[in-house]
Amino acid sequence: MLEVTPIKAFYDNYLWLFQRAGSHDCVIVDPGDAEPVLQFLSKNSLNLTAIFITHHHADHTGGIEKLLKEYDIPVYGPDSANIPAVSHPVKEGSQIQMFGEIFKVLEIPGHTLDHIAYYTSANKDEESPVLFCGDTLFAGGCGRVFEGTHPMMYKSLQKLAQLPPETRVFCAHEYTMANLAFARAVTPENETLKKRVQRDESKRELDQPTVPSSIKVELATNPFLRCEDPEIIAAAQRHSGHSSDRPDDVFAAIRSWKDSF
Ligand SMILES: [Zn+2]
Repeated sequence: MLEVTPIKAFYDNYLWLFQRAGSHDCVIVDPGDAEPVLQFLSKNSLNLTAIFITHHHADHTGGIEKLLKEYDIPVYGPDSANIPAVSHPVKEGSQIQMFGEIFKVLEIPGHTLDHIAYYTSANKDEESPVLFCGDTLFAGGCGRVFEGTHPMMYKSLQKLAQLPPETRVFCAHEYTMANLAFARAVTPENETLKKRVQRDESKRELDQPTVPSSIKVELATNPFLRCEDPEIIAAAQRHSGHSSDRPDDVFAAIRSWKDSF
């Protein structure tokens, strides 16, 4: 079984650490800060064997250098001039063998041009697939479109939406309640969303992470994955004043709306 543990960093980042249950070897995804990772490794007597990077932003890469001073290990990540520490550049279709599982690389540009995700069907033990998707798909929302275009980001999100519904979605931030507040504004009639808000609110009250989510939950409640839904098209048209019902345009309208929500 793959155990995936959040290490909190900064204000609301999750650095995801994974290992095979019972093993001391582990991998860290997006170590924006080395200190909490080193503390966690030491406290739990773990041995870091690799680093996975999803994109170049400092809150995902800032700890690499310091970790490499302690551990001589490979750094997997996009082939990007912005991340010189990547020793093993990967791209769409690349496969990484780790702890008996195969992680597949998906290119998902939009938030940044170099953004990638790591997916494993983890079928060795018939458990749910695992997705590390950085700042592209969030629980209840999606990342801002900084470097790409809206159609590019929408296409990347659609790629993630095609993954098996039971896939566990490990995104890099605890933005869920703010995302769900926006989702409520777009789809006030969505009953599944109302239930999700209650569930995730109770988790936050206990200071528990609302992540991982799943593709199934996102397909039912995340407006950015549902740009062909009549309720969302109507909301996008009302807010933007444009009449287009093309999914790209609906996505652009609600993403811009969320930017100033
Ligand atoms: Zn980012």
